[in-house]
Amino acid sequence: MTSNLMKIKEKISKAAKASNRAENDINLVAVSKIHVEETIRPVLEAGHRLFGENRVQEAAQKWPALKAEFPDIKLHLIGPLQTNKVRQAVELFDVIETVDRPKLARAIARICAEENKNCPIYIQVNTGLEDQKAGISPDQVDDLIRLCRDDLNLTVAGVMCIPPFDEDPTEHFKLLKSIADRNNIEHISMGMSGDFEKAIAQGATHVRVGTAIFGKRPGY
Ligand SMILES: *Cc1c(COP(=O)(O)O)cnc(C)c1O
Repeated sequence: MTSNLMKIKEKISKAAKASNRAENDINLVAVSKIHVEETIRPVLEAGHRLFGENRVQEAAQKWPALKAEFPDIKLHLIGPLQTNKVRQAVELFDVIETVDRPKLARAIARICAEENKNCPIYIQVNTGLEDQKAGISPDQVDDLIRLCRDDLNLTVAGVMCIPPFDEDPTEHFKLLKSIADRNNIEHISMGMSGDFEKAIAQGATHVRVGTAIFGKRPGY
């Protein structure tokens, strides 16, 4: 696991240089979903602290003990969030990357106010307009960002996308980058094990890499 981690970091560094970008501008979100603590631990012990999980319930079982041991862990939620799990998500995650509808944004705003927490969010964009995929459509994203910022007082720190698996991701990465730029959004979460270098070339600030670090997910 740690040799994989080193390899990915090396590739990130090369991809950054190739695009005249600073290596430090690119954050590696190690996607540990499905994997058990014994698989995650070596990566923590190698000094990595930024992780992504896609299910609140699973993360709530794995991460509190690890967070007690490594207090500077940062967790990103990268999977769909139901409104009835928002309180748990807000308590556990540092960033919710998957805000894609007004109802969810409202629930997050209300609960963060109740808990007196600043909750940075990313807006998930369905760049491929896929029926089965979460995310707000590109033609509605500016309105959702405006609602989050102006009406709900949320910190919209980033945007994220998961391009269709059967298409060249570069057009989708370009679209997400343009949405970020026109809305003055700093963080751009795009790129996974198979395409993170292409995402970096298009301006990704956060790449979400699972398989290339931890190996194939058990049962997949
Ligand atoms: C699982 C997952 C990833 C990581 O995918 P890999 O191909 O294993 O790198 C990235 N982003 C999201 C939203 C995921 O659900």
